[in-house]
Amino acid sequence: MLPTFIPPTSAGLLPCADRSELFDHPNTQPEAAALCARCPVATACDTWAVQHAEWGTWAGRTDDDRGTPREELPDLPRLPVVATPSCGTEEARRRHIGRQEQCDLCDRAYADRVRAGRLAALDAQHRRPGGPTARGYWLHTVLRVPSCAPCRAAHAADVRYYRTQALAA
Ligand code: SF4
Ligand SMILES: [Zn+2]
Ligand SMILES: [Zn+2]
Repeated sequence: MLPTFIPPTSAGLLPCADRSELFDHPNTQPEAAALCARCPVATACDTWAVQHAEWGTWAGRTDDDRGTPREELPDLPRLPVVATPSCGTEEARRRHIGRQEQCDLCDRAYADRVRAGRLAALDAQHRRPGGPTARGYWLHTVLRVPSCAPCRAAHAADVRYYRTQALAA
């Protein structure tokens, strides 16, 4: 929603245009306030919100900040405060992706998790009852771990197989 004193023709120019979801809940007040901080009509907007006992964030202030009388407020459930996941976790990495943020710590932690997964997979290859498959050799390569004889043998067998197929075709 936009302040009603703004003519509809100018409404699209305001930083809050099309962002109403940020202005409805107290939890997203910081993001809403960041938009209001560069709004040319913020002072008028604040006065308007006080006069109209508006709820939600206007001009960066919530209804609590303005002291809007409780009976004027709709029965809106307050969202539980969601803790920001700490950097280094998969949750934090996904949150960064969603916000198009770059975070070296999360990137490094992710690379470490991928590497740990591949090391475990290589270990499983070495424990296979029938010996490793060509995937073992591939894992050595991507992990930059010098290949072992059984993995090299599996790779060579694979290459031989595909060569014979190609010759037969
Ligand atoms: S101050 Fe904030 S809520 Fe008010 S018009 Fe500007 S951007 Fe929208
Ligand atoms: Zn991070
Ligand atoms: Zn190996």
